[in-house]
Amino acid sequence: MEQIDCQGCGVTVQTTDPEKIGYTPASSLNRENVLCKRCFRLKHYNEIQDVSMTDDDFLKMVSTIRDTNALVVHVIDIFDVNGSMIKSLPRIVGNNPILLVGNKMDLLPKSTNHRKLKQWLQSSAKEAGYKVKDVSLISSIKGHGMDELTELIEIYRDNQDVYIVGTTNVGKSTFINRLIKQSVGESDVITTSYFPGTTLGFIEIPIDDQHSLIDTPGIVNKQQIAHYISDQDLKLITPNKEIKPRIYQLNDKQTLYFGGLARLDFIKGSKQSFVCYFSNQLPIHRTKLENADSLYENHLGEMLAPPNEETIESLPKLTTSTFRIQGEKTDIVFPGLGWVSVEGDITVIAHSPKGVHVSIRKSLL
Ligand code: GDP
Repeated sequence: MEQIDCQGCGVTVQTTDPEKIGYTPASSLNRENVLCKRCFRLKHYNEIQDVSMTDDDFLKMVSTIRDTNALVVHVIDIFDVNGSMIKSLPRIVGNNPILLVGNKMDLLPKSTNHRKLKQWLQSSAKEAGYKVKDVSLISSIKGHGMDELTELIEIYRDNQDVYIVGTTNVGKSTFINRLIKQSVGESDVITTSYFPGTTLGFIEIPIDDQHSLIDTPGIVNKQQIAHYISDQDLKLITPNKEIKPRIYQLNDKQTLYFGGLARLDFIKGSKQSFVCYFSNQLPIHRTKLENADSLYENHLGEMLAPPNEETIESLPKLTTSTFRIQGEKTDIVFPGLGWVSVEGDITVIAHSPKGVHVSIRKSLL
């Protein structure tokens, strides 16, 4: 097939994978002005749709952001902070200021202390290697925090363009669609504009006569559990409303199963509470450590679900990591799945699907 570029964003058009950048249905190739599906939707429906790209490919286009003066708005999923940090971000943005946006706040308990959470995110970003100017907490589904964020963007962009970056699934499109509706109203139609001389797949949404909001493809982060489980299971583990923490008083030598996707063994320490933050629909089972292996062998896919009987095959084997936790309140994080908050001097073994790395952090809440 001869190479055809999208008239909107300049990306090379492809007709095979609707999730990937540049997709357009084969039937629309005959048109005079070919647009990729993402530009088509923006042009005709004022709507952004996410497409994805690997970290490596994203890095190849980095210089555009690094070499311009712009504000970078980095959207993360507050429920999956580890999974939504971008390792290469400092290289991608150069010296440009970063505004960190924690999305999906509606999932956290209403009692969450916003000031503390912002500080926590600021230091997590620092640990991940990037300095952020400011942190904003929003729910793009509910519209919470959007006015404050719009003001912050105006302040920090300092009359420059704004690049919106994020890994897939953080809610970047939901967020941009809300911004579009807020700024242009339902009726006006946006025209996508083309970056001259590039084939980037960035799309521009004008915010004033000279500047634009620029949507970039969602970066695929292999750490996200979404890559290892079926769509059906993903739906179940993804919370869609405020998480009700579930509290277990455990003695050592007890185990918690999170469906059949992860497991936490309390190896050593005195009796204490394990506060579990997972989707309310994900069943949690408590058992004795000595029975835990046989429970998994005999009941994976039924009592311990998800996975279910059909999706069992695609689940990678569980691997273990041991943590000795001391002192301050700590979260044991199963990326994309949730976390368990503990306190005190204890040793635990966490089991998670191979490829999904469990880590510990200073408690988020
Ligand atoms: P993108 O891949 O980053 O563009 O993400 P999408 O906008 O497609 O959203 C991914 C998923 O997160 C969808 O199921 C959205 O409904 C959900 N989502 C987006 N924003 C929010 C939010 O503020 N709160 C909650 N609970 N879910 C959200």
